[in-house]
Amino acid sequence: MKQPKKYVEIDIDRIIDLCEQDDNLGICRSCGEEAYGVEPDARRYKCESCGARSVYGAEELLVMVAG
Ligand SMILES: [Zn+2]
Repeated sequence: MKQPKKYVEIDIDRIIDLCEQDDNLGICRSCGEEAYGVEPDARRYKCESCGARSVYGAEELLVMVAG
């Protein structure tokens, strides 16, 4: 049986900071590492730390966490 995908908890304050920095930073939902060169509306970019396609842009993360 396949395990459900686990995501790390990402603090909403951290995401708001990223949005305010407006620096094309994203966060990997699998390992929590920050990634560079990620547009705010990016989805499922490849994470250079863990290799998962779980990097999301700041605005996408905000929508997911706030929603
Ligand atoms: Zn990762």
